[in-house]
Amino acid sequence: MNMPLTDVREYFLPTRASEVLRLIKREKGRCFLLAGGTGLTFGAPSTSAEATALLRKRKGVEVIIDLSRAGMNYVRETSGGISIGAATPVGELLKNPLFSSYAGGMVRETALSIATTPLRNLITAGGNVMQVFIWSSLPVLFLALDARFRVVGERNGLIRAGEFFSTQPRRLIGTGSILKEIILPAPSECADGAFMKFSKTETDFALTNVAVLLSVKGGVCNKARIAVGAVSPMPVRLLAAEKILEGQPLRDELIEDAAKAGTDGISILRDIRVSEGYKREIIPVILRRCLKIASERASGDH
Ligand SMILES: Cc1cc2nc3c(=O)[nH]c(=O)nc-3n(C[C@H](O)[C@H](O)[C@H](O)COP(=O)(O)OP(=O)(O)OC[C@H]3O[C@@H](n4cnc5c(N)ncnc54)[C@H](O)[C@@H]3O)c2cc1C
Repeated sequence: MNMPLTDVREYFLPTRASEVLRLIKREKGRCFLLAGGTGLTFGAPSTSAEATALLRKRKGVEVIIDLSRAGMNYVRETSGGISIGAATPVGELLKNPLFSSYAGGMVRETALSIATTPLRNLITAGGNVMQVFIWSSLPVLFLALDARFRVVGERNGLIRAGEFFSTQPRRLIGTGSILKEIILPAPSECADGAFMKFSKTETDFALTNVAVLLSVKGGVCNKARIAVGAVSPMPVRLLAAEKILEGQPLRDELIEDAAKAGTDGISILRDIRVSEGYKREIIPVILRRCLKIASERASGDH
């Protein structure tokens, strides 16, 4: 359902997050937060609670609050990890040297899987995670990395990835709050991983996205976090596969078993492009490839 922008009467370009919050409070229920604006192609505003309410009243968005200058475009290394400002374009994640080897390079791999170069300069990290589409890449990455999301406004604080993606984040945080930044574990605490998108062409929407993070010591997998996208509205963890890997020597047969168990216990949503059966066949294949790369990186063989 597309939201017409024909009723817009005011456009704000705040220079601080606190100013964004003040405007939201003042214009409650009438505003649309604009990040890269690419979600509008798919009818983005209708996914936010305030816009749904407006649609019911057959009214469009009246106020646009542009987040691009609100001081949320940055990538910083802090004692708590790596912080990515919500308004940071995905293209920046590709260029930033902090991500050249972080987690085996999986942040860069994920960023590269998103759309095309011109679109990556528009699409923001915040926009990509606040409105999750079935093909969205960053939510899958951040779920595997166990990222935390700093929310400010009526709801304040850090939300872990598991809770953040338990439903549409826009609904979870409510209309009186915004996402300020995404915090990834410090490089020293982070294991190595890999990300893979499977689609008909390089720039097509994903038929599946897989992100794997492995912590390996002395050839044994201590910890595994695996997330998959494009199977259900929100990304999910592949817990059965994680369980097979954890505490075991990381051999090819183990990877094979984990890959085969990949879709155990998860339901796969109907996709107009391919059947559920096809996805059940393809996910273990992509998972196996991803696990192999991640295990080589985590064992230092890559
Ligand atoms: C042709 C095309 C192909 C694409 N292919 C892919 C792909 O392969 N993989 C992929 O992952 N993505 C892909 N995308 C991008 C994806 O579909 C969305 O368009 C994109 O993630 C939206 O990000 P944005 O920054 O443009 O956000 P916007 O469209 O500006 O906003 C999206 C929603 O998030 C809310 N929002 C944004 N920032 C905040 C914040 N800080 N706090 C609170 N709410 C906020 C907005 O209010 C809105 O409801 C593609 C897009 C296009 C147009």
